[in-house]
Amino acid sequence: MIEMSKFIIPEDVLKVSEGLESAGFEAYLVGGCVRDLIIGRTPKDWDITTNATPEKIQEIFPETFYENIYGTVGVVGESEDPTLKIIEVTPYRKEGTYSDARRPDTVEFGVSLEEDLKRRDFTVNAMAYRPKTGELVDQHGGHEDAKKRLIRAVGEPKVRFEEDALRMMRGVRLSAELGFAIEQKTAEAIHETSEQLSKISKERIRDELIRIIETKEPMQALFVSQKLGLLKHISPSLEHGIGIDQNQAHSFDVFEHLLRALQHSADKEWPFIIRLSALFHDVGKPATRRWSEEKKDWTFHGHEVVGARMTRKALTELRFPSETIEKATNLVRWHMFFSDPDKITLSAVRRMIANVGQENIWDLLNLRICDRIGTGRPKEQPFRFRKYKSMVEEALRDPVSVAMLAINGADIMSHLDEKPGPRIGWMLHALLEEVLEDPEKNTKEYLLEKTRVLTNLEDKVLRAMGEEGKEAKAEAEGEELATIRAKYHVD
Ligand code: ATP
Ligand code: MG
Repeated sequence: MIEMSKFIIPEDVLKVSEGLESAGFEAYLVGGCVRDLIIGRTPKDWDITTNATPEKIQEIFPETFYENIYGTVGVVGESEDPTLKIIEVTPYRKEGTYSDARRPDTVEFGVSLEEDLKRRDFTVNAMAYRPKTGELVDQHGGHEDAKKRLIRAVGEPKVRFEEDALRMMRGVRLSAELGFAIEQKTAEAIHETSEQLSKISKERIRDELIRIIETKEPMQALFVSQKLGLLKHISPSLEHGIGIDQNQAHSFDVFEHLLRALQHSADKEWPFIIRLSALFHDVGKPATRRWSEEKKDWTFHGHEVVGARMTRKALTELRFPSETIEKATNLVRWHMFFSDPDKITLSAVRRMIANVGQENIWDLLNLRICDRIGTGRPKEQPFRFRKYKSMVEEALRDPVSVAMLAINGADIMSHLDEKPGPRIGWMLHALLEEVLEDPEKNTKEYLLEKTRVLTNLEDKVLRAMGEEGKEAKAEAEGEELATIRAKYHVD
């Protein structure tokens, strides 16, 4: 037996269940939240099922909304917590026949709780818990499966996947999120029914893919998706890399390399965009692979250009938002940047930053790390990579120069009786020295005031002041670089 008294159910949820019960109805927590309570995970949302009709539910609670065909009424609470703000209350319901592998032809209300649980996808998702009595309704063995850490379809798996093909992806995703295995018969049924996933809209497939990528174990989940025949309906271009061996620097075929790169980004808990780019970064390799007699090895020239095009196409097909498509495509396009700090110039680093865009440069460097780890034979080069990063930071920062000043040569000439010529440069450098000493002085008012003094000085004196300014500038530059290098431990 499980100890239900250990369940921590938020007050806001209890309020809703008590509201229903005191009006004479049954109220059960159901689905994902019961599963999560049992395995000790924090529920993402709280669903309640009841024998009250949508109309009754709306009468019981002061603030509700109801705008769907499934009978779900959103009960609005007072909580600030987004997972508790709206508690969804749905009457027990039963689904009619499925003729399109996507959605029921009819839904029927006013059935029993048992009927309602039967329509649910997996046993761990098909339990209900009644806070009033502490009773757990578990007619499909969900509690046992939760203990065994198994994803098992409710009823006949093949029939359930034929009703709604998205359940197959939900199963894989759930198994990745929870770290559960897919039960044998359920996995076999997915394998046999996988073709049906092609009937599901790309948007729904995309949403499940996003959730898979965001789990801790996306590599495993995508391997399983491939084995069970789902991946070709998720994003077929990923499968082209299966069995495509790479050059000497790699231990794995292209497919496994992509998954390992993705897995590293997940291990690092990096943002979604890096994970997605890691998954696609070498997708252009199969199409560009050539044997080089000279090197006695495979080459993949231009795979990043082809790969960027394929990434754009794949993500467009999955209806990703254009911002995501552009960002991932861009990272894939530039992932082959040359990064040997001993052989590269600062201006080459600057060009690289200009190519990928300043806002993307750190994501690109992280993608490179995933790529390196994903080879299975990463060359030990943390020092050189840090050195490269310090060069990037150096290239990114504004140089110490008279351009930092709040006034320029044109301002000086329009305020004073000065002509174009070396005196302007000397004045600016003299001002720069002061500003480096005290950045607060970098205002238009102060600097113009100061030029009224400088303009009275003869050339010789002014030149000397200008020279001093240049020295101060060189010193400041040196200090900034030393700071950057120290930060990356490459000084
Ligand atoms: P989470 O909220 O953590 O994503 P969940 O299990 O609550 O997980 P939801 O999508 O919120 O997932 O669905 C709530 C419940 O509805 C599920 O637990 C399951 O019982 C049922 N359910 C959802 N989608 C399906 C489906 N396609 N077929 C059958 N039952 C489903
Ligand atoms: Mg849920």
